[in-house]
Amino acid sequence: MSELHKFIFDGLPVRGMIVRLTDAWQEILRRRAGNTGTGAYPEPVRELIGEMAAAAVLMQGNIKFNGALVLQIFGDGPVKVAVAEVQPDFSLRATATLVGELPADASLSQMVNVNNQGRCAITLDPKDRLPGQQPYQGVVPLFGDQRQKLERLNEVLEHYMLQSEQLDTVLVLAADDQVAAGLLIQRLPVLGTNNLPGQANEDEIGLNEHYNRIAILVRSLKREELLTLDVDTILRRLFWEEQVLRFEPFAGATAPRFACSCSRERVGRMIRSLGVEEADSIIAERGHIDVGCDFCGQQYHFDPVDAAQIFTSPDAQPPVEPIVH
Ligand SMILES: [Zn+2]
Repeated sequence: MSELHKFIFDGLPVRGMIVRLTDAWQEILRRRAGNTGTGAYPEPVRELIGEMAAAAVLMQGNIKFNGALVLQIFGDGPVKVAVAEVQPDFSLRATATLVGELPADASLSQMVNVNNQGRCAITLDPKDRLPGQQPYQGVVPLFGDQRQKLERLNEVLEHYMLQSEQLDTVLVLAADDQVAAGLLIQRLPVLGTNNLPGQANEDEIGLNEHYNRIAILVRSLKREELLTLDVDTILRRLFWEEQVLRFEPFAGATAPRFACSCSRERVGRMIRSLGVEEADSIIAERGHIDVGCDFCGQQYHFDPVDAAQIFTSPDAQPPVEPIVH
């Protein structure tokens, strides 16, 4: 079963999280493999999507926010878009759009950043968005300070956290065909006054000795270990000299799990956003409008009568599906 664990280091300005997606991840892969339009992910894309899913759970777990966290990569290579979306209850979905051929051992830049035009976006989309309210979005490139292409997703996201939140962060991410997993360590933004006497001046990026010591431990974790070892073993091996305080894990009924929020109504709104002329031309050409959900594989069929109803129904709210298609 999938699980998410949060922990802190007693008396230190450092918090951590570890996620293992198993059944949730396998369900995402199973649905993709069952989609006759796309087929299964090539291995490098599978790894990327798995790492994005694990990272998105960690980032959702890291914020107090009632809405979806959407981690997207807009690529300039064969992978055009990759998306992982996590709700506040840790239900999640993910997908990627590929065009053309991909080397079997494609690197991150070969997939999404061939010409340094790829970018990574983190969107926080409030659940009960007010009319006119825009989701918050932060965007970072897929290259580093010297314009060198970043070849690991964790580097991109560490960069993002530092830029957007001024938070030192270490991420270790890994995915295979069974498990998508991640470990995050972050320096706490606000130092406690009770448990940290004399340390108030250390709230500087990169300068906290406790954080730096723990960060080195985390970076020593091999991807293979993250995929194969259970959470208790990983935490014991890495932090056996530290005082780790663990919270009740998100497991069982509260565990991260696959869920898709697509619906016939949402697809109808998407068709309406195309406009009546575009919809009519599709009907004229094919006799119907078929839309498949990239996330879960569900097919939605609209015959000419259904399509006409979309444009005559009293529900004339503007579309609020900004993100994927
Ligand atoms: Zn769906």
